[in-house]
Amino acid sequence: MDEIRSSELLRKVMKDYFAGFKQAKKTAWCTSVGPAELLRSFGFEVYFPENHGALLGATRQAGDFIPATVNLGYSGDVCSYLTSDIGAYIHKKSPLQKHYGLDGIPKPDLIVYNTNQCREVQDWFTYFGKEYNCPTIGIFPPRHVDEVTEAEVADVSAQFKAMVPLCEQASGIKFDIDRYRDTLRLSKEATNLWKEVLNTGKNSPSPISFFDGTIHMGPIVVLRGTQIAKEYYTSLLKELKENVKNKVGFLKEEHSRIYWDGMPIWGKLRTLSDLFIEHNSAVVASTYCNSWIFDAFDEKNPFDSSAKAYTEIFINRSENAKMRLLKNMVDEFRVDGMIFHDAKTCFNNSNARFGLPLRFYKEHGIPVLIVEGDLCDLRFYSEGQTTTKIETFIEQLESQKVAH
Ligand code: SF4
Repeated sequence: MDEIRSSELLRKVMKDYFAGFKQAKKTAWCTSVGPAELLRSFGFEVYFPENHGALLGATRQAGDFIPATVNLGYSGDVCSYLTSDIGAYIHKKSPLQKHYGLDGIPKPDLIVYNTNQCREVQDWFTYFGKEYNCPTIGIFPPRHVDEVTEAEVADVSAQFKAMVPLCEQASGIKFDIDRYRDTLRLSKEATNLWKEVLNTGKNSPSPISFFDGTIHMGPIVVLRGTQIAKEYYTSLLKELKENVKNKVGFLKEEHSRIYWDGMPIWGKLRTLSDLFIEHNSAVVASTYCNSWIFDAFDEKNPFDSSAKAYTEIFINRSENAKMRLLKNMVDEFRVDGMIFHDAKTCFNNSNARFGLPLRFYKEHGIPVLIVEGDLCDLRFYSEGQTTTKIETFIEQLESQKVAH
């Protein structure tokens, strides 16, 4: 398998992003699906603790730090982004030191979290608010919505507007609606490109896998609202479109196509990617990578449209809405089977706990598999068991195809 050529540019983009914190005048922390564009419009460099949690997982350091947080009284069963990130802070360690030459995580001037994804971010971010004695804002949208109503948009939009005076105070910059519109427009353009990037996975052979997506989503998470993110996805999309045209995929032959549900297992990305490739199985779709597609963004109406976009994310939807979205995805990506990752420390983004996979199978006849694991805490992951389960599942998908 050839590496996606844009990966080199990606490394530079991420390196420059982190280097930017060395000269940052003001830094805001934000949850990964928080109102980053509003913050950027005040000139903040925006730092995302979840991205740091993913780095701790991917570099397999999370396990070294989780015990320090458990010693503070947190359960080892809660979000391993939270427990590893707080633990790393206690140890004064960070992958940002070795990989990007920073002294540690960037110090916040403002902390903003949005509970659209989970309440855990409230506990996590308020911990740091106290540690740094830093103003902390929480956005509390309605949870598990079906279709987002106007009243719900108005509620969240009002909460975004209420952030403005605190942002002005923390940044020392007056709110400028035009700057906000420009930032949201850039974000919209980048998110549209990201959507097109992921949609190239509808082709056979697919030029991009779910595992590639978890790496290439870096800029849409941390650089939303910048020209850099837009340029990066322009370049990536160009490369992938060429590959589609030339029938170059990450697999020479696709024997089966799979949807991955829930969080990545960051410390096992490469191992899992290799396992599927070895079996000519293409993991081509996920709602995880799609979480940074924000169709509703509209710079003409920045507060309401971003309130809608950030409230209608997949993780925050009702079961009925999730079933509909999953069905669309299965059809559009021509998926043969679905793997649900039951991440032990994130029930919020694990859809296997209340029977959804079986209901989906009964309704649509798509084979499903549940694998146990975690985003960062590898104590919850059994390599042998997972490999056997996945191999058996792939065999089952292939034999079903032959039978048809
Ligand atoms: S959604 Fe899950 S992984 Fe993400 S911050 Fe919340 S609990 Fe942690």
